[in-house]
Amino acid sequence: MDPFMQAAIDEAQKGLAEGGIPIGSVIVHDGKIIGRGHNRRVQEGSAIKHGEMDAFENAGRQPARVYREATLYTTLSPCAMCSGAILLYGIRKIIVGEHETFMGEEALLRSRGVQVDVVHNPTCIALMKQFIADKPELWNEDIGE
Ligand SMILES: [Zn+2]
Repeated sequence: MDPFMQAAIDEAQKGLAEGGIPIGSVIVHDGKIIGRGHNRRVQEGSAIKHGEMDAFENAGRQPARVYREATLYTTLSPCAMCSGAILLYGIRKIIVGEHETFMGEEALLRSRGVQVDVVHNPTCIALMKQFIADKPELWNEDIGE
């Protein structure tokens, strides 16, 4: 198992334990995690804190070069908002845990030159399937439905 995907899954599980939506993300530069986060919409009543956004926030302000050289890991295919942040900051490579339960803006990212690797991780799929079955209303709210 890729230790960085494992770190993103750890974040997702932390979010679940807090009563939140189990999606986690880490941003890696030079072999080190520079930002990590998980979905905090429920915990903080936030409209924008998806896992990827939380990881960006926790990485803080970074020089353009760092974003360009960074890889973003996320347990779930990134939505339009998070894909926008990935494009804005010029992240060139993302590793996606799964896109079976939700297909994000992978086509848009690829069309803009981002390398998108989907690893079909069974833990990521199980986390989301269980969550969607348990709390469908929370999930629909998260994806704007
Ligand atoms: Zn998102």
